[in-house]
Amino acid sequence: MVKKCIVTSCIVIKDGKILLLFHNKLQKWMYPGGHVEENETPYEAVLRETKEETGYNVSIIGAKPLGLKKNKEAVEMPMPEMVLYEDVPYKTGRHMHFDFVYLGIAKGKRGRLAKGESTKFMWVTEKDIAGLYTFNNIRKILRYTFKEIKQRRIRS
Ligand SMILES: [Zn+2]
Repeated sequence: MVKKCIVTSCIVIKDGKILLLFHNKLQKWMYPGGHVEENETPYEAVLRETKEETGYNVSIIGAKPLGLKKNKEAVEMPMPEMVLYEDVPYKTGRHMHFDFVYLGIAKGKRGRLAKGESTKFMWVTEKDIAGLYTFNNIRKILRYTFKEIKQRRIRS
C-alpha cells in the first residue's frame, strides 16, 4: 500500500553558508529533515528534526505572514520555501512524500546531537556546489538558496 506522508527539510544558513550532512544510507550530502510525527505540525517537526540532526536551533524565514487573527478555524503557519513531491521506495512499501522545505537561520552555538544521527557535517559556499556528491535537484535547490540569500539580503 502506498503511504502519504508529510515530511520536512531545513536549509540551514549561517554566515552566508549552508549546512549539509552526509546521509549514510544514501551516501550523499543532504540537508536535515524527516517525517512529521503524530500530533506535530510541519513547523514543529522542522524545528525538532533540525535540532536532532544538526544540534542547531533555527529560526525559520519565509514569506511575510498575512497577519490573520488566530482563531479555531484557521491558524497561519510559517511558509515553507518550497514543497516537493518525492516518491520513496522503502523496503516495506512505497511512500509518497510531500516535503515542506524551509529556510532557517542557525541560532547560537551547536547543541548536543541525537544518538545515531549523521556525524559528518559541512558548511558549503556557492563554489562548493559543483563538486558535491549529491542529487542534481539538491544542487539546483542550493544554487537557488544562495541566490535568495543575496537577493533578500538574508543575514545571520
Ligand atoms: Zn514516509
